[in-house]
Amino acid sequence: MTILKLKPTGSIPPGFESEEGMLLLGGQGAAALVDEAGETPLFVYDAQMLRRRVADLRSAMPAGLHLHYAMKANPFPPLLALMEELVDGFDIASAGELAVAQETGLEGSRISFAGPGKTDRELTAALDAGVTINLESEGEAERALSIAAGRNVRPRLAVRVNPDFELKGSGMRMGGGARPFGVDADRAGALARRIISAGADWRGWHVFAGSQSLDAGAILSAQAETIELVARLSDEAGAPPPLVNLGGGFGVPYFSGDQPLDLTMIGNGLADLLAARPAILAESRFALELGRFLVAEAGVYLTRVVEVKQSRGETFVVVDGGLHHQLAASGNFGTVVRRNYPIALANRFSAAPAADPVHVVGCLCTPLDRLGEAVALPPAARGDIVAIFMAGAYGASASPSAFLGHFPATELLVGND
Ligand SMILES: *Cc1c(COP(=O)(O)O)cnc(C)c1O
Repeated sequence: MTILKLKPTGSIPPGFESEEGMLLLGGQGAAALVDEAGETPLFVYDAQMLRRRVADLRSAMPAGLHLHYAMKANPFPPLLALMEELVDGFDIASAGELAVAQETGLEGSRISFAGPGKTDRELTAALDAGVTINLESEGEAERALSIAAGRNVRPRLAVRVNPDFELKGSGMRMGGGARPFGVDADRAGALARRIISAGADWRGWHVFAGSQSLDAGAILSAQAETIELVARLSDEAGAPPPLVNLGGGFGVPYFSGDQPLDLTMIGNGLADLLAARPAILAESRFALELGRFLVAEAGVYLTRVVEVKQSRGETFVVVDGGLHHQLAASGNFGTVVRRNYPIALANRFSAAPAADPVHVVGCLCTPLDRLGEAVALPPAARGDIVAIFMAGAYGASASPSAFLGHFPATELLVGND
């Protein structure tokens, strides 16, 4: 007798295949990759999927539009090195990310630095490296100018604007209303004028209005409002911006019912907006700044079944991973209602599901550690490998890996040859 009602999972992203029932990642079987890594759990990122993603995006977007990668989505150095070939710029949010970017060989001139609490130490490192600082406040602007003067460097400065609109339907709102991010739109023009007159190398505007939107129309409206806003601010500043960073907000389908973003609609709409842009923006370059959209679907988290146990009529598939690596899949990273990520048994990829749904739980001693709730899986046994999809963004680096003292997950970039 079952009392457990099946809960839907998100769809496995297109492009994953199997051979003799084994999930393939970068052309290799999941079990072979586990052997290569030596242990579960591990994150596997598929280089070919990353390349295809960027190529598809570029072909949908207007020619000449720059793509920036927000490295907080996934700072794994081999993945970053691959992105270095694929995108035009990088957005960092700390001195630690700057250090990783520099170790990967990224040039400072391709990097911009956003984030509301940049310390003097971080500003110093960024200014020395020739990184563009997206200023988040007047106070930060004055500190950057004085640190640069003390070190005899010409600071590369842009202003991050807190717009008076937001990206509608976005998972995380980062603009509109009172925010810690950016300078309120009604003061941004004056700040740009101040830093230009202080002799800074003026880089332009950064407007990031939200994240994880699957609504192409909402993204286009935010882009239209952004172009209008930065044209007005440029008039106030008395200078055209070399770069307009339009932000991003492109979402990915994590859950049941989510539809992939309509890139063609955004690309065509943005081309029209750029063609009709105000004269003060005629010579400006435009960029999108994307994190999860570029990397989420290319990553899979693999974790091994340690025990299958019963409790009061329900089955618990207990794995050796958990929310300490993949917090987002447990529903504890910026979601209000817990829903299931796409999940499968990697080593029985094409097998039919068992009659009864099961819970897939992590190894942490907390009820929060659920990776799949009432999901359909083939009958699972100790040693099977569970695959959780959509794990390429905000996985290893966005999870509390020190919590409960388990070993960290291995990360692998595959198929990059
Ligand atoms: C987090 C962040 C991003 C990336 O967001 P995604 O939702 O992963 O695309 C881009 N820019 C800024 C300023 C951010 O804070």
